[in-house]
Amino acid sequence: MSFCYVRVALDYPRSALYDYCWALPLQPLPGMLVQVQFRCRQTVGLVIEVVDTTNVPLNKLRDVQNACINCPPLNKELLQLISFAASYYQYSHGEVALLALPRALRDAARWPKLFAQKIIYRLTESGRDKLPDILPARATGARRLAKAFFRTELLSSADVRSLYSKAAVVLEHWKDRGWVQMQLCSAIESLKMGITHPIYEQQSTNIISSLNQGKGPNLNDEQYAAVEAIDAARSFIPYVLYGVTGSGKTEVYLHGLAALFIRQPDAQALVMVPEINLAPQFEAVLRERFSSWPSTACVTLHSSLADGERTRNWLAAHIGGARIILGTRMAVFASLPRLALIIVDEEHESAYKQQEGLCYSARDLAVWRAKQLGIPIVLGSATPSLETWWHACQRCHTTLVLSRRAVGDAVLPRVRLIDMTIEKQVGHYRSGELSLSLVQSLRDCLERGEQSLVFLNRRGYAPVLTCSACGWVINCSRCSAYLVLHKIEQRMRCHHCGGESRIPQTCPACGNVDLAPLGFGTQRIEEALSALVPNARVLRIDADNTKRKGSVNTLLSEVHAGDIDILVGTQMIAKGHNFKRVTLVGVLNSDAALFSHDFRAGERLFSQLIQVSGRAGRTGVRSEVLIQTKYVQHPLYASLERYDYVGFADAALAERRDAHLPPFVFQALLRASAHSLDNALRFLNAASAILYTIPGAECVTRYDPVPLNIVKVMHVHRAQLLLESTSRIALQRTMRIWVPQLHILKGVYRWSIEVDPLNI
Ligand code: ADP
Ligand code: ZN
Ligand code: ZN
Repeated sequence: MSFCYVRVALDYPRSALYDYCWALPLQPLPGMLVQVQFRCRQTVGLVIEVVDTTNVPLNKLRDVQNACINCPPLNKELLQLISFAASYYQYSHGEVALLALPRALRDAARWPKLFAQKIIYRLTESGRDKLPDILPARATGARRLAKAFFRTELLSSADVRSLYSKAAVVLEHWKDRGWVQMQLCSAIESLKMGITHPIYEQQSTNIISSLNQGKGPNLNDEQYAAVEAIDAARSFIPYVLYGVTGSGKTEVYLHGLAALFIRQPDAQALVMVPEINLAPQFEAVLRERFSSWPSTACVTLHSSLADGERTRNWLAAHIGGARIILGTRMAVFASLPRLALIIVDEEHESAYKQQEGLCYSARDLAVWRAKQLGIPIVLGSATPSLETWWHACQRCHTTLVLSRRAVGDAVLPRVRLIDMTIEKQVGHYRSGELSLSLVQSLRDCLERGEQSLVFLNRRGYAPVLTCSACGWVINCSRCSAYLVLHKIEQRMRCHHCGGESRIPQTCPACGNVDLAPLGFGTQRIEEALSALVPNARVLRIDADNTKRKGSVNTLLSEVHAGDIDILVGTQMIAKGHNFKRVTLVGVLNSDAALFSHDFRAGERLFSQLIQVSGRAGRTGVRSEVLIQTKYVQHPLYASLERYDYVGFADAALAERRDAHLPPFVFQALLRASAHSLDNALRFLNAASAILYTIPGAECVTRYDPVPLNIVKVMHVHRAQLLLESTSRIALQRTMRIWVPQLHILKGVYRWSIEVDPLNI
């Protein structure tokens, strides 16, 4: 073999690739994982290019030490995605590439174990003959196992375990009888098993009718039209699936997927959900619909998976054995060699945007990926993001509409505004936050035996604890923020740094013992409701009582079982959940977002209120949403009362156009954190000065550096510099020259770039 060099991406924040000499006795290929030495450390890198020459002096050039031969190289399209994301978001190749890999693969010492041979089980001829007759009806676990064998013949040890926890004993017995055989196969082979057993053996011409056999409801005409459109796409078509809450978007996804697998049995599909919380529910539905698949055919990818499982799932996707990959934003970087359809559920969710480190938008990258591969992508939402809606208005995206609720006679709840200025005047203003009208409606709802939900996006008991004599307020010692009173935990907590302290008994400034909580959090509302609606069973769900794994589901199942009358919670309960008995939703304290200095606050509020309203009336019982506000005339609430997303979006887009805001301009932020605010601002000013020296930077507007809203967190001071341009290309071109020069500037702990920032 001739002598050659490879250019390797390493997890290091400079955009360079690093040259190494290739002396291993196998052909080097782009996309291979290799082990190299970098600055006296062993590390794993990704081969981006194979070249014949190098500029690195020979005495400085090191050899590639090892290559991960068991793992097939990442394909060209994925390498292009990595390189696009790196250049668009101003990161190095390596940082993006390594982020895309599961941790176990990034550690060469773990490769041998990862790719060791695995046990698989095969059904024998005599097993096929004998097993159906000898299994007693009550041996349900063993029957499940047998059924799986009849379907697929081969099962991995992970498969058998997931089918039946005591499978080992049964299989030992069957092996003795000669009904199953054990054999060893490579880890890769065992992951490939997913593809050898396509779900639908016989092709069907009438897709929809074959899918409706037994499972799931019959599609209504709007759903049917949407599925047909998705199924008809043979190239890049970005669909906006705009469907009101409860309109059955999930059913459209499921049929779209099934239609794809009938047409193209070895295809892969990527399904993205905004939050880990929503994944288990979705996964259960997928497994039920595609129940004849082996377990590796439908996998999840998100950050709360255990290392081993994440690696296994990632590899199953990479090998092609996994057909549906369900994941959170990180899944957009998964290796999917046969990707044929992408679905982004709740595409408007800000969780698709990574907020620290590599600040990528998984939704935007998903669209890029679909375009690169020439495949359809479905962006589903009841309130599409204004960026997406703007594309739809421009006809860059195709809109599919689900205008009504899918279940029988279910209709959207009526929205009613409670005028808090009047409530106050007539003396109905109880405990400062709950209006008598709302309390009365909660009581009526309880009387009817129905459930209600009270939504307040603020956890804890009260956001402020203050001295009634001198006005002293308790602050976090590390952050420029108030400490939040948590009565149940008997602590003061900082929601920014996580710091805690005891609840003070006296005012440190004047010695007064009368310290008063100001404002309301979920705990205080829970307490107030228990007093105001004494017979109701009140449950609170927020980040404070759901820290343990699985605890959300336990609490939610109480709601689903009907053991709860009033559910109080934050955004955690506002979206995605299908509460069948909820007929009343109360919204507290939403006014704050109407006058925020963040230009996206209105958009977020509208979508949040549509989502939380969507939890009510999902089964056809008359239902209502009550919004407490001091601004009953506000146009946002007027649109909401009419469920007029289109009207809201048109008005908001017109405003954005007048104010020169996204999507009509493109933005990027440089953030800096430093020992003092001065240092952070000095760094940003220096960075801004460099911009003047860049040719073509006139097309980019730069604003003055400003402190962040909460300037200090954990003793670190933060500030930012905003860049803006009407030309995405000009902004990109300028940053490409600008960002590498920032490495020479000093005086800050950290700086980072965010392209297309969501929070400004
Ligand atoms: P969305 O995601 O649009 O809010 P879901 O997908 O959660 O709505 O669907 C809401 C409910 O409607 C679910 O319980 C689902 O089973 C049901 N559903 C969906 N499609 C149909 C249909 N064609 N007929 C009857 N019920 C349906
Ligand atoms: Zn005081
Ligand atoms: Zn703090």
